[in-house]
Amino acid sequence: MSKKILLLAGDGIGPEIVNEARKVIDCVNEKMSLELAYEEGLMGGCSIDAHGVPLTDETIAQGRASDAILLGAVGGPKWDTLDRAIRPEKGLLKMRAELDLFSNLRPAILYPQLADASSLKKELVADLDILIVRELTGGIYFGEPRGIRILENGERQGYNTMVYRESEIERIGRNAFEVAQKRGKRLCSVEKANVLEVSGLWREIMEGLAPEYSDVELSHMYVDNAAMQLVRGPKQFDVVVTSNLFGDILSDCAAMLTGSIGMLPSASLNSDGLGMYEPVHGSAPDIAGQGVANPLATILSVEMMLRYSLGMAEAADAIAAAVGQVLDQNLRTADIFSEGMKKVSTSEMGDAVVDALMA
Ligand code: NAD
Repeated sequence: MSKKILLLAGDGIGPEIVNEARKVIDCVNEKMSLELAYEEGLMGGCSIDAHGVPLTDETIAQGRASDAILLGAVGGPKWDTLDRAIRPEKGLLKMRAELDLFSNLRPAILYPQLADASSLKKELVADLDILIVRELTGGIYFGEPRGIRILENGERQGYNTMVYRESEIERIGRNAFEVAQKRGKRLCSVEKANVLEVSGLWREIMEGLAPEYSDVELSHMYVDNAAMQLVRGPKQFDVVVTSNLFGDILSDCAAMLTGSIGMLPSASLNSDGLGMYEPVHGSAPDIAGQGVANPLATILSVEMMLRYSLGMAEAADAIAAAVGQVLDQNLRTADIFSEGMKKVSTSEMGDAVVDALMA
């Protein structure tokens, strides 16, 4: 049965990197007879320019009718002065909320060929392969009440609320246990249960789930310690599950362990398996249109899409292997370039992955 992908190229380098990802989709589609079909839509600044809003109902409907969505990136200085309510990033948040994409998977993988790119010592990060599972649609980013109020003495006070229902914790917990079962079978739940009631409930629910996943070893860690351990000895982790705010910070920290933001994919999934896949990086307006952006994070997002939403693990493995091969051939875009390597453009990198797939 054919599967449908919605391509949202977005802004800045988005169209350039999604173009390379499309070449890779076309290649595996034909070579492995996957019956993938795709259509395109607008989200972010490009949608504001065309329709006055960052995400239209039509694009949301296109997303719902798809098996997976591939996003480049949204945003840029052109739209930074707009009212906050219609900025490009609002489109992304709305799509996540509308499709209930509550589980954000962010791998931090350090390819051995790029071990020098990390700011940490090689021995601490070589062959690093961790996965952060971040709750994406709840917690303090969405909690009510929120706002800025005037106190009796006339001083302004900003406030937000960190809230999690049991069912929200349970579904992200189950998702993380299931992911851990497919990997190294170790799950570390990160919270701040020594201070926050919401974290105490989080820990209780995780412990309640553990007997159902007896093949997975569950541990708990306070978020401050987790931040420290991520830079002290990151290879101690396999899968980390955490809330929206803590995951936002820890996953960026984990991403930087790998040294190149241009290499990291991510997935946001709902309970039906529909997912939006995107590189971790943004729209990089500083290099947009120059043909120098690294397309590998987007190509690796296609790999995750095939694996987690489309059930095409063989094609996913082929893409992962092809990316390894182009790195073995010493091909590097500017962001991962070092002495002795061959510098290539965005499209040359995409072509090299396609060549490796065809070989
Ligand atoms: P950014 O990730 O776009 O760029 C940070 C730095 O990394 C820049 O120097 C950029 O040139 C470089 N970089 C990023 N991706 C690269 C790639 N594939 N190849 C080579 N170099 C790359 O972050 P920023 O500068 O903070 O944000 C720029 C815009 O992107 C803003 O409008 C922001 O809101 C938006 N943004 C969007 C998303 C998203 O769509 N999911 C995520 C983050 C930021």
